[in-house]
Amino acid sequence: MPVDSRPSVRVSFCHTTLMVGPPKTLQDLRRIEAAVRVTCRACGRVHLLDREELIAQRMNERRSCEWPIVRADLSCRACHEPNVRVDGVPFAENAVELRQRRSTMLMINLSLVVLDQAARQSARERPAEEAVRLALRVLHPHVADNAMLTEFWRQAMDRKEMVYCHPQLVIRWIVGRLVARGYAVWAELR
Ligand SMILES: [Zn+2]
Repeated sequence: MPVDSRPSVRVSFCHTTLMVGPPKTLQDLRRIEAAVRVTCRACGRVHLLDREELIAQRMNERRSCEWPIVRADLSCRACHEPNVRVDGVPFAENAVELRQRRSTMLMINLSLVVLDQAARQSARERPAEEAVRLALRVLHPHVADNAMLTEFWRQAMDRKEMVYCHPQLVIRWIVGRLVARGYAVWAELR
């Protein structure tokens, strides 16, 4: 990827309108829906890392998510040079766009939490229909795959047949689809 030469979205958390003060942790980057940008000082390549993927990976490996430690740990994915510059790149350039994005991501993530709770509950009893319907409706335009959402309903709500895949598995498909479409699903839900 060539060095990003766009008229800079100012990124190093001097972004006063979008975020006050530097982040303490990777999770703090959620406040500005930021991705993590690694710029190699040796080869000049720029990589944009998925923030939530990075959080999930570090939590799995029981490594710190503190921002200064993360910054020090990252190296160039192309030439493995440790001398890199690491910034959080905010999703939006202005507060309005950012608010919209945050509100969309909150609705999506909360809907996934509702589906997750319904999936767990469905092992014992039928989950509340209204909550699941609302969550599926919120997810619909973002997942853009009717079959996947219908499958969740079938597995969690219409479990007449004994042969079923666990609804949690369907949630994994939905999350995978959202991530592939560029949505920053919280690491805890991946
Ligand atoms: Zn490099």
